[in-house]
Amino acid sequence: MADAKEKNLGITVKKEEDMAEWYQQLCLKSELADYAPVKGCYILRPLGFALWEQIQAYFNKRMKYRGVKNAYFPLFIPESFFHKEATHAEGFNPEVAWIANKDEDSGERLAVRPTSETIIYDSYSKWLRSWRDLPIRINQWANVVRWETEATKLFLRSREFLWQEGHCVYENNVDCDREVELFLIEYKDLCEKLLAVPVIYGRKTEKEKFAGADYTLTIEAFMPDGKAIQCGTSHNLGQGFAKAFGMDFQDKEGNTQIPCQSSWGISTRLIGTAVMQHSDNKGLVLPPNFAPNKVVIVPIIFENTRDAVLGKCQEIKDALAHFEPILDDRDEYKPGWKFNEWELKGVPIRLELGPKDLEAGQVTAVVRDTGEKQYIKVEDLTAALPELLTAMHDRMFESARLHMESKIVDVDNLDDFKKAVEERKLIKTQFCGEIGCEEDIKENISGVTSRCIPLEGGEPKEGGKCFNCGKDSVCTIYFSKSY
Ligand SMILES: [Zn+2]
Repeated sequence: MADAKEKNLGITVKKEEDMAEWYQQLCLKSELADYAPVKGCYILRPLGFALWEQIQAYFNKRMKYRGVKNAYFPLFIPESFFHKEATHAEGFNPEVAWIANKDEDSGERLAVRPTSETIIYDSYSKWLRSWRDLPIRINQWANVVRWETEATKLFLRSREFLWQEGHCVYENNVDCDREVELFLIEYKDLCEKLLAVPVIYGRKTEKEKFAGADYTLTIEAFMPDGKAIQCGTSHNLGQGFAKAFGMDFQDKEGNTQIPCQSSWGISTRLIGTAVMQHSDNKGLVLPPNFAPNKVVIVPIIFENTRDAVLGKCQEIKDALAHFEPILDDRDEYKPGWKFNEWELKGVPIRLELGPKDLEAGQVTAVVRDTGEKQYIKVEDLTAALPELLTAMHDRMFESARLHMESKIVDVDNLDDFKKAVEERKLIKTQFCGEIGCEEDIKENISGVTSRCIPLEGGEPKEGGKCFNCGKDSVCTIYFSKSY
């Protein structure tokens, strides 16, 4: 039973000592993902893909509730589409992948989509006629390609990744503004309710906003190693793309109007975010709502009680079907080995059942995040499990929230700012909002970027001055290192 491979099952470095190495081993050994033979790409293994499906299931429900419909547009985008919106083209140009084959009909060069604004809005310009067609709310689940040169980091940075991109069209900017924020709040809720990940949320600076947007809203998580992860963005595109793609409509009075647009997206980055936030030195700790299987049942088998124990385990599995339990009845592994494996794979609750438990009419329940053990009567399981899972979710969220809050530091001058960057804090400060000043910060202080101007509390302090240039502050803003 024991072979050489078993020895490598566990993670060999500690999260608090070398987070980068820990994270990589965690993703590989828990079988979430693997590296691909092509540089910059990775493989989502079944467990990793199951987590993506959890995100899809949650968010499809939310989108449908908001009147969004799913559709699918082509992977290839004609080069001329990029040239229609100049800022967008300039922003994405360095990382667009071009294919060698040209479109036979137009003779045009084709890009592999880095994002789909251009190809989708070309279609919208044909479909939109009247105010009765508005709003348009369409989402696509797709892969996109951005020819990154930085090193691949599983789920967090790669050339190809999976995401959803929502593309909406509105009669006016008031409706557009409202829903740009609405979908951002949907993302915030997703992070909190599904992933147990707290976020700060707000507006990107002029420098950091999406190429071609009037403004960009973002949610940002803060990792245990003191780096932020941009988890989702929602852009108000104004009328720029509509004008570039010739979109207009007849309003109620019969006048021709140009619509306002938004786009918003989240990606497989969310998997990396949740995994990095919560997991420990034994392996994954999956938040209960995110975990595809909430429960694993491990029978403790002795030959003379084998049938009775397995029979009871099967009964429990059937009764708990709602939690998609795994019954690990493999003969070739001992219980201790199975415990380690399921801890590595992050199943929230482990139920152990042996001959003594059978006699007592109970199971031993172990929760993944604390390792705490308790005995639960078999007939009480269906009532007890939701409580255990909810408590676990709340604990994980609260622990992450306390960590983030403990890292926030108020800074009002450059020296303290630099020190806080060194200490990997989430820096709250006053800022002039000017692109030149932000470029100066980026150039002179290594690895730090602005994260967001919070939607709540983003107004400038009275009499506040920019920490970098000393001009009057226009906002309160967060800076930090980031992934
Ligand atoms: Zn400044």
